[in-house]
Amino acid sequence: MKSYDVVIIGAGIMGLSIGYELRLRNQKLRIAVVEKGTAGKEASWASVGMLEPQLIITQDSLNEENGIQRSFLNLCFESQFIFEEYIRRVEWVSKVNCEYRKEGILKLIPPDENADEKIAWLARIGIRGHYWDQDEIEKNEPALAEGFSAIHLPGNHQVENRKLVKALIYACKQTNVEIIENCPIADFNIVNDAIADISSLAEKYSAAHYILTAGAWSSQFPGLHGIIPDIRPMRGQIFSMQMPNEKFVRHAGSLDDFYYVPRNDGRILIGSTVEDVGFNKSVSQDVTDEFLKKLETIFPNSVYFKAIESWAGLRPVSQDRFPVLGETALSNLFVAAGHFRNGILLMPITARLMADVILDQKVSPLIQPFSTARFFRD
Ligand SMILES: Cc1cc2nc3c(=O)[nH]c(=O)nc-3n(C[C@H](O)[C@H](O)[C@H](O)COP(=O)(O)OP(=O)(O)OC[C@H]3O[C@@H](n4cnc5c(N)ncnc54)[C@H](O)[C@@H]3O)c2cc1C
Repeated sequence: MKSYDVVIIGAGIMGLSIGYELRLRNQKLRIAVVEKGTAGKEASWASVGMLEPQLIITQDSLNEENGIQRSFLNLCFESQFIFEEYIRRVEWVSKVNCEYRKEGILKLIPPDENADEKIAWLARIGIRGHYWDQDEIEKNEPALAEGFSAIHLPGNHQVENRKLVKALIYACKQTNVEIIENCPIADFNIVNDAIADISSLAEKYSAAHYILTAGAWSSQFPGLHGIIPDIRPMRGQIFSMQMPNEKFVRHAGSLDDFYYVPRNDGRILIGSTVEDVGFNKSVSQDVTDEFLKKLETIFPNSVYFKAIESWAGLRPVSQDRFPVLGETALSNLFVAAGHFRNGILLMPITARLMADVILDQKVSPLIQPFSTARFFRD
């Protein structure tokens, strides 16, 4: 049996960032992050790294009675606020450039549509958006098809999520947070409302605190039934292409559910689907063809882009679509999962608030609405 102060189950962006945050707070803790496969290679790798608080808030679903949506926006805004400083610190420790980009994100407005209502709605939920007419578009995003205007969201940034994950892995390793790969945890041994130990086929681990950050797999442990609420996978497919140069498309943007994200190396990522198909990461040519058609209506010259690769990832989603954070009914088990479409954005605030709960028993009003208790009231 291996013993630690903290064992974290799942080395995605949540597990890695919480492990690193705990290390920053306490140099003496023995911390292990146990991963079923390779660290950081599931949803956190498949993602595109847009930092957009409004993504899962729908125009007609935000009202005062639905308090969890407002709490969710507040959590996102707080994370957005601390994001850059967080990135700079991880970059400094790891020496990995995470390609944090601050030029803003565009919401495209098709010809003959009016942006006023959308700008007013964004303002109502707390997001600044400026209208870019066709002159502004010509200056700032010249490859866009004629007729489009846009709302520019200067506060919505983006990060190269794969580099961020790599940086967090380096930061963990350099600060003696142990990452144990190829070690699927299968069993939780529960004694007197606490976890006594956990085990993979090969090894047992015991700790004072356990943190479940297993993404879309977080409710797949039979021993935790009734303790961890249902969290299921939601597939997202992405396709990447090479642009003629890295300035060809200058901003990430979206048109309804379709989005595109240019990277510093001249790639452009396009997507995505939101598919309830279980633990299935296959990609389909029909979906890629659909993406390509959409990209062509937005950037007609994209017909000359060179195809690179397609992939899919499994976003972890809870029953109400919002994250599941903090304490559980077991005294030494904590959870940070179900971040659905905003896990990259929510990483710094999740890490900070989870460390407060675990080390100081401090449950911030910011995460209190996301406790497991909301699913088990009866
Ligand atoms: C296509 C796509 C686009 C996205 N775009 C964005 C975006 O633009 N902005 C944004 O903020 N978010 C985005 N997301 C969402 C974001 O990527 C996720 O919310 C986030 O990565 C979830 O992180 P995680 O650590 O909880 O899960 P994961 O990264 O999936 O990590 C969970 C880890 O737990 C491990 N694990 C599972 N079971 C076990 C076990 N039994 N034992 C040990 N380890 C285990 C897994 O192998 C995995 O490594 C996107 C996601 C996808 C798929």
